[in-house]
Amino acid sequence: MFDFKEIGVVRSNFKEHTDPFKMREFESTIEIKKEYVEGLYRIEESEYLEILFCFHKSNDYELKLNNYYGEYKGVFATRTMKRPSNIGLSKVKLLKRKDNILYVKGLDALDGTPVIDIKPYNGGYKDSENEHKEIIELKDNPRKKIIQLVKNCKLEDLLTISGALHGHYCPGLSMGVIGSVYAVNKIKEFSDGMEDILAIIEINSCFADAVQLITGCTFGNNSLIYRDYGKIAFSLVKRDQKGVRLSAKPSYRELQKEKYPEYQKYFDMAVVQQNRDENVMNEFKKLAKEVSFDLLKWEINDIFKIDDVKLKLPDYAPIKEALYCAICGEQIMKSKETYEENKVYCKPCKNKEYFQIDGSGVSVCK
Ligand SMILES: [Zn+2]
Ligand SMILES: [Zn+2]
Repeated sequence: MFDFKEIGVVRSNFKEHTDPFKMREFESTIEIKKEYVEGLYRIEESEYLEILFCFHKSNDYELKLNNYYGEYKGVFATRTMKRPSNIGLSKVKLLKRKDNILYVKGLDALDGTPVIDIKPYNGGYKDSENEHKEIIELKDNPRKKIIQLVKNCKLEDLLTISGALHGHYCPGLSMGVIGSVYAVNKIKEFSDGMEDILAIIEINSCFADAVQLITGCTFGNNSLIYRDYGKIAFSLVKRDQKGVRLSAKPSYRELQKEKYPEYQKYFDMAVVQQNRDENVMNEFKKLAKEVSFDLLKWEINDIFKIDDVKLKLPDYAPIKEALYCAICGEQIMKSKETYEENKVYCKPCKNKEYFQIDGSGVSVCK
């Protein structure tokens, strides 16, 4: 036999059933009966819970019926409350617990609904199935997820992914996110890293990392062209040479300083004066994170000047013969070699000049 206990009751603003999507947007509480409170021990460690409850206002059922969206289906193919066992199930976000009260969001149950069980939600079967599907899709197109986020202008998600590449959050990275999402949606084509779309970047700073991640034009796939102008600017251009250029407005910096004076103060201490005191660094990082995410809410026109451009572009990267250095034996791409008495050498073995991109831009080194 079954033996269900009513362990608590739902308190919500909803007395009558309405759009379940709307109901899930509101917070509600679950009051656990005193005799079961001990069972909540360490429940706060779960961000999401599954709530099993009783559709107490429903006492009949149909095996086939129209669901909420008007689709005619079998009862077990719907989430209707008119079911043989009148049990409801919701995944909710646990906002906080106060004694015997759980504050949750996402519960589509009416006020007064008896709760019969609570379990922590930890993904499980369905999620691993989805994950598998996601991997198959990503094998077809590794940029699928990012393209989807760009199309939907999911700036926060894209900033977190850019942060994974960049190592930290900073306003420069956010600017790269905002500008790149705009540019990609403007030219409406997505790079697959085969040099059909080029990003021409004019500075090698934080900004450049978000541009690479979001446009898909990177240092490694030769779709990133670096012009050492030292301007916070980049263009996204198709092979017909046409595209869009975004450059930071001169007024932007002042606006940022004005809006985030506290961040500016810590920026001066931590970055300009190189004060590596732990408290200073912690506060600086915290503020940098806050400012970076807040910046995503700005109007793009407060940050960038945007122009349609036509730019001269380099050719597709050449495929060159491989040569081998007569001293170290390492492989060298032809055109990068140096000769002495008809023998091939690499530049470092012969102490020849070479170009280097570093924090100062491009320089000739030896
Ligand atoms: Zn940075
Ligand atoms: Zn060598």
